[in-house]
Amino acid sequence: MLILSSPSGAGKSTLTRALLDTDPDIMLSISATTRQKRPSEADGVHYHFLRQREFDAMRDAGELLEWAEVHGNCYGSPREPVERSLREGRDVLFDIDWQGTLQVRQAMAADVATVFILPPSVGELRSRLERRAEDTPEVIDRRLKNAAVEIERGAGYDYVVINDDFGRCLDEVRAILKAERLKRFRQPGVTAFAETLVRELGQSLL
Ligand code: 5GP
Repeated sequence: MLILSSPSGAGKSTLTRALLDTDPDIMLSISATTRQKRPSEADGVHYHFLRQREFDAMRDAGELLEWAEVHGNCYGSPREPVERSLREGRDVLFDIDWQGTLQVRQAMAADVATVFILPPSVGELRSRLERRAEDTPEVIDRRLKNAAVEIERGAGYDYVVINDDFGRCLDEVRAILKAERLKRFRQPGVTAFAETLVRELGQSLL
């Protein structure tokens, strides 16, 4: 599981899309949310848009791997698609906040890598939120106010990447994913392979 978090407007959604487009071995965990759909979003693609009582029912039935209230709305990761993908040996990408990250870490510590994306400056963060032009000025203000807390929480993440140059930022996240996949415990066949090499070396020396 690869978790990407950032304050709103740091470019994380674009990064997520680019990563998914270029890597067939990772799938996105599509979150459920009670937030209003933005004009550019599609239900079931960007989020599963739910009414509050539908969200509460999923949460109460234990169908969410994690959930949190973020900027006044509820967000959560449906458990079943994540567990199915992991069973099939596929990696899962999460675009979730720090509260959800703590919950996933607690549930499945060894299998999680966390990346925090920082914006290059406060000015850039604000202008990205305004350029998106899909949220009201009040919503934008609220998101900027929450950014400081989110950035402080980024200190607990495994990796940090500054999104000042999109191409470089994407390369860096890809490099993290590649290195995490190469960790010994994520390559179950490698121990047996190393043992075979040792055995063959022993025989060739006889
Ligand atoms: P947005 O409303 O801009 O799509 O997302 C707002 C924030 O909610 C982002 O920081 C995003 O990472 C976070 N978020 C989205 N889905 C989830 C989720 O399933 N769980 C948690 N904990 N946070 C989420």
